[in-house]
Amino acid sequence: MHDYAMPPYRIKMVEPIKLISREEREQALKDAGYNPFRLRSEDVYIDLLTDSGTGAMSHYQWAALMQGDEAYAGSRSFYRLEETVKEITGYQYMMPVHQGRGAEQVMIPELITHDHMYFISNIHFDTTRAHVEIAGARAIDCVIPECFETEIYHPFKGNFDIIRLQEIIQEKGSENIAGIIMTITNNSAGGQPVSMENMMAVSKIAKHHNIRLIIDGARYAENSYFIKQREQGFKQKSVAEIARETFALADIFLMSSKKDGLVNIGGLIAIKDDLDLFRKCQTAIVPKEGFPTYGGLAGRDMEALAVGLKEALNEQYLAYRIDEIKYLGDLLREGGVPIQYPTGGHAVFVDCGKIVPHIPYDQFPAQAVCNALYIEGGIRPVEIGSLLLGRDPDTHLNIKADKEFMRLTIPRRTYTFQHLEYVAKCLIRVYQNRNEIKGLKFTYESPILRHFTAEFLPIE
Ligand SMILES: *Cc1c(COP(=O)(O)O)cnc(C)c1O
Repeated sequence: MHDYAMPPYRIKMVEPIKLISREEREQALKDAGYNPFRLRSEDVYIDLLTDSGTGAMSHYQWAALMQGDEAYAGSRSFYRLEETVKEITGYQYMMPVHQGRGAEQVMIPELITHDHMYFISNIHFDTTRAHVEIAGARAIDCVIPECFETEIYHPFKGNFDIIRLQEIIQEKGSENIAGIIMTITNNSAGGQPVSMENMMAVSKIAKHHNIRLIIDGARYAENSYFIKQREQGFKQKSVAEIARETFALADIFLMSSKKDGLVNIGGLIAIKDDLDLFRKCQTAIVPKEGFPTYGGLAGRDMEALAVGLKEALNEQYLAYRIDEIKYLGDLLREGGVPIQYPTGGHAVFVDCGKIVPHIPYDQFPAQAVCNALYIEGGIRPVEIGSLLLGRDPDTHLNIKADKEFMRLTIPRRTYTFQHLEYVAKCLIRVYQNRNEIKGLKFTYESPILRHFTAEFLPIE
């Protein structure tokens, strides 16, 4: 127990939560069309849907809110944020956006110069993939095969498959690659980190082929912490130094600041030195997000973000953050529940293909386990599997995910170890009764990003 880092903060304000009865949970889930996204949060006891914008701000951030300068153009708050982002990244240009997908909708179309282009990523995050497709390009994932061997230890399961990356570039032609997107940590693979060695190799390839390298860095601080812990030669460096080395490898940084920005809303675009691209984005951002010095954020949001970005690089904070995830993972493994091992930076990914092998991929095994966990304990997880992956944009067939994951996403600075013990206890019970879990069929399916709004019925 005492192998785990201690929390470097105490509780100053509480938000009451309550567990409604089993009958009420059954009704709530039915009303939600058997899709946890559609539940009311007050019907949820422990909310592990996402770590996005769900964390607790520090009292320094709450104090900073009061300094917000609510000017449309050129506010003090903008300049404070800009200075912080420049210092952390070493990049010359930056623009705030309302959240990560705001950054994507502004930047991704600017990188596409002709028809039939591709983006290559270790794994595209779902909204990133959607923006690539909406902009008329195609998204190719290129992660190492060890990523999907959930029981085998690998320190950097988020890594690019370097050989495959070169093959894809050869096959498609470098002039048809709109960009290489390094997702750090690799969210869809289990918040798995990418090593500095791997990022350096990707950067070299990108430079060689004159392809832009983009960091999708919602969790760059957690990734940098893993490098310090697990990669040779980084023990003596600070996490901030490692982050700076990471940014030096790429050209563009897109961030959902609702993760390692430790805020409830916000995002960033930063560009290393390409003034022409910056000007194009400044034009594109106005109708999409807002004027370039606020990009959909209030002055107070930018103030809170400037403070949060610094706090997320604090190494005591990161040690506890990463150990929270490890603690939940260890409890589940002791209980026999198959998970992505080792645990990554923001969530425990449960391997539902192994829990309910009797449910075929197009009846969404992980979604079925998510629902069972909600009924068992009022816990809301999220599916990261064939439901999320959607349909092939060309053939419209359901795509089979490599892994049917249920993600237990831990909000930052929010739950205690006791909450995590309760989650483990409930999930172990679900696991023991796994043969009773049934697959799902659609009663409603939207054409894009269907997992957010879909409705289902259990298959009797
Ligand atoms: C969350 C996330 C996004 C999208 O950000 P939002 O703030 O949710 O719009 C993009 N990429 C990654 C890797 C993410 O985790």
